[in-house]
Amino acid sequence: MAGERVLVVDDRAENVEFIVDYVLKPYGYESIVAYDGLEGLQLAQSERPDLILLDMNMPKMTGIEVLEALQREGVQIPVILMTFHGSETLAVAAFRLGIKDYILKPFQIEEMLGAIERALTEVRLRRERDDLMARLMTANRLLEQRVKELNTLFGIGKSVTALLNLDKLLARLVEAAVYLTNAEEGSLLLVDEQTNELYMVAAQGFDERVARSFRLRVEDSLAGGVVKTGEPAILNGDETQRIKTAYLVKSLIYVPLKVKNRVRGVLGVDNRQTTRQFTKHDVRLLSVLAGYAAIALENARLFGQVESERTKLATVLGGTEEPILVTTGRDDRVVLANAAARRAFDLGATVVEGYPLAELIDNEKLINFVTSAAETGLAQRSEIPLDDGRTLYATLTPIPGVGRAVIMQDITHFKELDQMKTEFVSTVSHDLRSPLTSILGYAQMLKAVGPLNDKQQTFVERITRGVNQVTELIDDLLDIGKIEAGLDMEMEPCDLTAMARDVVEELRGMAANKKQELVYRGLAETTPTLGNDLRLRQVISNLVGNAIKYTPEGGQINVTVRLEDSTVLLSVEDNGIGIPPADLPYIFDKFYRVESEETADIQGTGLGLSICKSVVEKHGGRIWAESVPGKGSVFHVGLPLLAQTDLPADLQPVAIEPSAR
Ligand code: ADP
Repeated sequence: MAGERVLVVDDRAENVEFIVDYVLKPYGYESIVAYDGLEGLQLAQSERPDLILLDMNMPKMTGIEVLEALQREGVQIPVILMTFHGSETLAVAAFRLGIKDYILKPFQIEEMLGAIERALTEVRLRRERDDLMARLMTANRLLEQRVKELNTLFGIGKSVTALLNLDKLLARLVEAAVYLTNAEEGSLLLVDEQTNELYMVAAQGFDERVARSFRLRVEDSLAGGVVKTGEPAILNGDETQRIKTAYLVKSLIYVPLKVKNRVRGVLGVDNRQTTRQFTKHDVRLLSVLAGYAAIALENARLFGQVESERTKLATVLGGTEEPILVTTGRDDRVVLANAAARRAFDLGATVVEGYPLAELIDNEKLINFVTSAAETGLAQRSEIPLDDGRTLYATLTPIPGVGRAVIMQDITHFKELDQMKTEFVSTVSHDLRSPLTSILGYAQMLKAVGPLNDKQQTFVERITRGVNQVTELIDDLLDIGKIEAGLDMEMEPCDLTAMARDVVEELRGMAANKKQELVYRGLAETTPTLGNDLRLRQVISNLVGNAIKYTPEGGQINVTVRLEDSTVLLSVEDNGIGIPPADLPYIFDKFYRVESEETADIQGTGLGLSICKSVVEKHGGRIWAESVPGKGSVFHVGLPLLAQTDLPADLQPVAIEPSAR
């Protein structure tokens, strides 16, 4: 290969010329020549050729002596020894001194060329290897440096999410900036919006006092320029630069600290003593750290905002007279209990947050209400009696992402009024019943006294219908009074399957009048429960009656009874007008009726479902409804299943033949 330099050392000029002119030049090698051993040695040292062609016999210094000298000096240049026939023994000594090859004089051009190529190939390979090694070492060093940088950045990244102490975090960021860029000092400056100045929030390498009073005007400083343009600045001049009075640097980087595209400050590193220059890579590293600083600042701001909102909320809730409890949705742990709730449930000042509600509060009704609240997304309500005789009216609202909030109102006074009202209504109703019976009696006797004309007949019918309506209302009121007072509520084992089938039979005619299909589709087996036969029949009858009432002609009504664990479940399903979601939570309240076009012509007192609710609850059961307006409604009643051991013979589980009924 051309270009390599070959030193020819021979005392005979014609030999040298021959080699240079016929071997080296034509094949593109550069040549250096020496005419004795000493000159050869000196040129080898000063010129460092790629190869030496060395004659053995020379005046002043023999080839062997040159080789010895080269070895002593540590000069490692491949040598081809040129020798005469008969001096091969010397060649052995020369090999020991490290020659690559030897060639006998006189030689052919090809012979010499071959020897040169062989020796130089080895040299080239060694050079390539050395070169590769050097590149590998550099790459390795670079890689180590990158790993160090990544480790530092990773550590900082973790701190950003884990460390809530902003000052500490910013100090750590500046420390990392200085470490990664190998700088003498670093600082983090933030913009003071009021004065339009930059002030130092974290620093390394700065005197504490200087750091505290350090201020730069945004208008006419290098750091201010970075704030205005949003672009990093890098200074690497040989000249010292003045950053501010008595603050001179030799090299410096400032990168902007952006929060939502607004520059809030700058992160900087500089050298004041050394002349080490910063690179673009340093700028990139600082930009990553500035990104972290921005996240940390934003986190701190948001955290502060949430904290202040929380404090505000806690103050408002704390001062609220109504007891308020917030629990997690899944495992019913307390998230918040305000002072009124602590008082109502004797929680004192103990830490309740994070503990399961059931472990803290000894009130079965409340626990059941909260823990078994259906996941309907709608508010649910219940009365909660307290040990001291007071009653709270609890409204449970699901809060997405948090759990459930229960807000309670003390309704003790209203309960007392309600009680007085119930008693009053009960008395008055009773007193009204006798005159009504007389009115009805006499109205019906009118036709016995003499023939009535058409008009008189219509009036009598209207009187009868009116009296019946009032009687129905009074009956309902009396019923409610009795049920709430717990009167006439003897309980005995009874079979809900049989009752449901009976009611379906009784009301089939009423459904048929509206061309509706009313069917029992439940279990054939007995489903025993402990209850009051009359009242439970009344419940089923009210539900089926409503289904008939609120389902247009030709509709379908299904009644089912089935078992679910230890509960007997009765459902009445219709495909009638349905109930709007806004009304659904109130339909079990006394006198509540849905007001709509579809219900306008349907008569009712608004007491049927509240009677059902009172009865079911007196039986330790639960009643609820699901409905889709325009599609239909399902009313469910769940009652505790009576254990087999408590059953009389006629209620022992046997299949009831449908034909036997
Ligand atoms: P009412 O005497 O008015 O029927 P209830 O207490 O039985 O009183 O029912 C309360 C209200 O609930 C009714 O006025 C009606 O609007 C609604 N409702 C009850 N059952 C049904 C049903 N099966 N389908 C549609 N709406 C119903």
